[in-house]
Amino acid sequence: MSVKVYLVSRPQFDVDSLLSFLRDQGTIWRRGAGAPSAEEIVEVAGRICYMSFGQNQSPRTNAEYIQRLILMGHESVLEHVNWTFLITGVSRAFTHQLVRHRVGFAFSQLSQQYHDETDAEFVEPSLLRKAPGALAAWQRTVVVAKQAYRDILKSLQALETQSGVEFQKKELSRAIRSAARSLLPNATETKILITANARALRHLFKVRGSIPGDEEMRQAAAELLRHLQVEAPSIFFDFKIGTLADGSPIVTWQGAGETQNEPEE
Ligand SMILES: Cc1cc2nc3c(=O)[nH]c(=O)nc-3n(C[C@H](O)[C@H](O)[C@H](O)COP(=O)(O)OP(=O)(O)OC[C@H]3O[C@@H](n4cnc5c(N)ncnc54)[C@H](O)[C@@H]3O)c2cc1C
Repeated sequence: MSVKVYLVSRPQFDVDSLLSFLRDQGTIWRRGAGAPSAEEIVEVAGRICYMSFGQNQSPRTNAEYIQRLILMGHESVLEHVNWTFLITGVSRAFTHQLVRHRVGFAFSQLSQQYHDETDAEFVEPSLLRKAPGALAAWQRTVVVAKQAYRDILKSLQALETQSGVEFQKKELSRAIRSAARSLLPNATETKILITANARALRHLFKVRGSIPGDEEMRQAAAELLRHLQVEAPSIFFDFKIGTLADGSPIVTWQGAGETQNEPEE
């Protein structure tokens, strides 16, 4: 089982509405051709800050304009564009790290209290394949954990017919699954829907994408970035997907780390 990322929602720019605003202001926008919605929204967000439309507009292309904003450190404009991804084939250990990202993210994850994990799958770290003993120990343990989950569920479900149990049916079911899930491993596969803005995603890639010892995070970061480099290449222009010696991906930031704090026009 390996990580899979589905892009389920993307920004949509209403250009007619913007043009109507500009008409009211007595100005125009020299709109470049071919930029995706997300990048046009970011460009417009930047231009609104300086009202750099009409005769105040520089000849920069959309891509040049966005890259300059990023190099200046004017990244709040990137918060106007969000994408929603459905991520599957990842472990609970991975999502525990992911949900630590508090700013600019929204999460909706499969519940182990409402969802019966009797048929749970487990995400196997590829490193295990390098040592048969390690792989055998891992495989043995997940089989035992799954069986124990089923046994606990079955034993506790007998409580549903006993008198004197204080919970209502729904809460009893929650309590039973909570008790049973307590022994499920970190490797248990999960599904998570995330929505994140471009600034937050760039931050995630910077701090999480290139940690050699965290293959699952690198795999997920690379899958997310593959989508985003199609969706908004200029916003993610300074990230690259490389490959480590074992063939796994790594996301590196090519940023100069310098800011040019000049006013934009
Ligand atoms: C290599 C590595 C090792 C880690 N090890 C551990 C560990 O051992 N234990 C552990 O608990 N966590 C660990 N973490 C998680 C880490 O501490 C962060 O919680 C996680 O990476 C989210 O990053 P963030 O806070 O920058 O992101 P976000 O929560 O998305 O925040 C984005 C940015 O907003 C700003 N910000 C957000 N909240 C605040 C705030 N309250 N006050 C001021 N500024 C704020 C910061 O600039 C922050 O970088 C580790 C992360 C990495 C990458």
